[in-house]
Amino acid sequence: MEKPRLILLNLLVFIIITGVALVGVPIEAVFFDIDAVELVTCVFLIYFSGMSITAGYHRLWSHKSYEANALVRFIFAVGGAMTVQNSILHWSSDHRVHHKHVDDNDKDPYSAKRGFWYSHMGWMLREYQPVRYSDYSNCRDLQKDKIVMWQHNNYLAITLIANFGITGILGWLNGDILGMVLVAGVLRILVVHHVTFFINSLAHIWGRQPYTDANTARDNDVLAFFTFGEGYHNFHHIFEYDYRNGIKWWQWDPTKWLIRGLSFIGFTKNLRRCPEERIEKAKLAMQLQQTQAKLAALPSLPNKDELVKLLNDEYEALISKMSEFYNAKKNVMDMKRKALLKTYEGMEITYHYKELKATLALRKDKWIQLCQQQLHYA
Ligand SMILES: [Zn+2]
Ligand SMILES: [Zn+2]
Repeated sequence: MEKPRLILLNLLVFIIITGVALVGVPIEAVFFDIDAVELVTCVFLIYFSGMSITAGYHRLWSHKSYEANALVRFIFAVGGAMTVQNSILHWSSDHRVHHKHVDDNDKDPYSAKRGFWYSHMGWMLREYQPVRYSDYSNCRDLQKDKIVMWQHNNYLAITLIANFGITGILGWLNGDILGMVLVAGVLRILVVHHVTFFINSLAHIWGRQPYTDANTARDNDVLAFFTFGEGYHNFHHIFEYDYRNGIKWWQWDPTKWLIRGLSFIGFTKNLRRCPEERIEKAKLAMQLQQTQAKLAALPSLPNKDELVKLLNDEYEALISKMSEFYNAKKNVMDMKRKALLKTYEGMEITYHYKELKATLALRKDKWIQLCQQQLHYA
């Protein structure tokens, strides 16, 4: 089959950025020196522009996982343009198709099933989906956002001014315009490009699948560290409307911390979270499925049927205990809201809730042990 036409503009942009960063920056370092101010600015702008993509383009605009005021949206629009990844409208439209048709080689714009290179960069170099190119019908909501449309209609100017204007002025203040443009401008774009592209490529290849195996998305702590928290991509693909990607408090997700931090000063609001019960149950279902698969793969085991039955029974029992627990938790919350926790009824409900919590914890331990035991046989 003949390959689609090359998109020369994209190809040129990538070649120039890569060439200047990999050749120009070392020359600057050797002959003119790179100072600490340039390096610190580079790192700061990696975070600023990178998180304008993850918190802005991705979690705010593509997934509407929270709301942000005009100032925050304006800053993300400028920071996002600095990364040279097309406009919010275009990026979000692609991304919504990616979620809707994930891994479908004909529809997913950066389907990981077409290989690492295609999902990393290849998809941008040829006209694989020309019919869709300026079809933004899946982003009608975003077309009502004045900042989104302002950025879309003035994309080139904003991108050039944000990249060369900001770094140029900072360089002038620091006494070396070219050095700053090279390090905090071009090299920074190259870094943020690949960091973002890794989410489409590596985060669909490398890592674990604790929540779903219905698609290729993976959870990966190493990737999360380099992608401002987006490496928890398995969670993200099943619960895409959650403003968090790393849901545990200790999971490295600075994008989540930024969004939550901004909510404390009223700059962001209506942060959406998937109910804990659904998350927990998705995880259990995966554990059951993975253990069943391991058991089924065992060549011969005298009591295999018994083990399968035990596993299924334990799973059913755990799920029903979990439903009971979350029901009780809801009742406690209701009583708390009505300030009735100190009444006799409130205390009864709290007691029941605590009892269930302890039983559930024990059952969970038992379950994990059972799964591991089965895996041990395998
Ligand atoms: Zn997404
Ligand atoms: Zn994905």
